[in-house]
Amino acid sequence: MKQVEGNGYRVLLENKREQILGKARQREDIWVVKSNEQIEMVQLAGEREFAVMALERDRNALLQIGEALERLDNGEFGICLECEETIAPKRLAAVPWAAYCVRCQESFDIRKAEDADYPALAA
Ligand SMILES: [Zn+2]
Repeated sequence: MKQVEGNGYRVLLENKREQILGKARQREDIWVVKSNEQIEMVQLAGEREFAVMALERDRNALLQIGEALERLDNGEFGICLECEETIAPKRLAAVPWAAYCVRCQESFDIRKAEDADYPALAA
């Protein structure tokens, strides 16, 4: 099994995590302001739903990033969890938290599409 050089990816993953956490903090700030302005309840409910969805997506992303950092620590980073093939560096550059090679990811996506509510991370 070939080990992937991890340091560059660690920086990418940590930056991405910071970005998501920063965004989450920003969203909380917006929430406080809007509540104080007493926006119509209907609109507020819609925004809350949207915020919950975004939160769910962020939580999912943070989970995947955390797992990727763990894989970096134990030397399993860049290896597909499904077929144990090396994940293409091009894919890792675009999606550093990728846990699966393109082929396995595609088969997951097909299964996921059948379960429409699954919180997917844009990849
Ligand atoms: Zn695979």
